[in-house]
Amino acid sequence: MAKQTVRDIDWAGKRALVRVDFNVPFERGTNHISDDIRIREAIPTINHLREAGASVVLCTHLGRPGGKPDAELQLAPIAERLASLLATTVDYVHDAPGDDALAKANALQAWQVLLVENIRFWEGEEANDPAFAQAIGRLGDVYVNDAFGTAHRAHASTEGVAHVLPGVAGLLMEKEITFLGGVLQEPRRPLAALLGGAKVSDKIKVLERLIDHADALFVGGGMAATFLKAKGLGIGKSLLEPDLVDFCADVLIRCEAAGTTLTLPTDVVIAQTLEADVPTRTVAADAVPDDWMILDIGPESADLFAKQLSAMGTVVWNGPMGVFEVPPFHTGTRIVAEGLAAGTAVTVIGGGSTAEAVDALGLADEMTHISTGGGASLEFLEGKVLPGVAALQDKP
Ligand code: ADP
Ligand code: MG
Repeated sequence: MAKQTVRDIDWAGKRALVRVDFNVPFERGTNHISDDIRIREAIPTINHLREAGASVVLCTHLGRPGGKPDAELQLAPIAERLASLLATTVDYVHDAPGDDALAKANALQAWQVLLVENIRFWEGEEANDPAFAQAIGRLGDVYVNDAFGTAHRAHASTEGVAHVLPGVAGLLMEKEITFLGGVLQEPRRPLAALLGGAKVSDKIKVLERLIDHADALFVGGGMAATFLKAKGLGIGKSLLEPDLVDFCADVLIRCEAAGTTLTLPTDVVIAQTLEADVPTRTVAADAVPDDWMILDIGPESADLFAKQLSAMGTVVWNGPMGVFEVPPFHTGTRIVAEGLAAGTAVTVIGGGSTAEAVDALGLADEMTHISTGGGASLEFLEGKVLPGVAALQDKP
């Protein structure tokens, strides 16, 4: 499934229409970008194109304007941040499918950068309307998809336009496909999956896939409670998905049949309410009192997970081990992340919250690959074909 990339194109004198993912978070109620990693991650592709002699038209969505203009979701702060990161001027036009955008795109010189308006201001985007794809296709000679985070959506700017223009992968997209694809195709073994986060229901398909594919599964986070329940343990008032107890019991049986070990926490950190710095207790996983809830894996489990995981060939991690946003329930996630950072395993992190947690711990640089695509990375790991990737040109 090798796809052509920006490296396979002779860019001299060409306009690149690049779909990026600049869907960045803002500090509530302000136009101050709180985390610009998504913009920073796109810089290598943009500069690659410019240095190869292309002009660059950038297209992104921001938030969920639902197919109509929304003054709060215009891209001015993003254009400004991008200009400062590129150390050049970035032209920004409040248009994408119309003649204003086209005139600006046509007037670009090599090296110059244009950002078009939030693409979800038009209904044709999410509807993947062919006429809309045609309209935005006029902005470039070659289409570059560098928005892995939206590659699981077949929208006009992520999929449709690749039927109008020849489409290739950007460098960020290439990196995602290489690392996530590598985990699926030929991982260094043993391959372990570390799963956490809030819900089993979010991870059903990836669990299904990993039972056979991975050598070892480790389960923490809120989803561990439903597994503990499936083993017949009391879990107090922990987050429980009653409909999925049978599914978890089945996973335990199928893992055994497949020779895949499944490790659950043996101790847990509990509290009576979910608030910062409330009184907590650490108890054995089979001793959670009725009106307490599991909010983190315990220290013994965290040490065990860290030790075993660090000796694996590859670890794919999706979902924090506890409610890491609320101290002290970040501790299990921290110990496990530190173990991975110190170990020798190839570490691939998928999932928005997990990436955020690793970043907050200052350990992002210690991981082999942190996927920028939350939902997309999960769908990729589930083995789904992502429409935004499928539509790109195959390598000859
Ligand atoms: P990702 O975005 O990395 O895929 P998820 O969205 O699946 O991760 O899960 C992240 C959420 O899971 C976090 O908001 C975290 O607070 C929550 N979580 C983790 N452990 C627990 C727990 N024991 N009880 C309730 N929620 C939890
Ligand atoms: Mg999430």
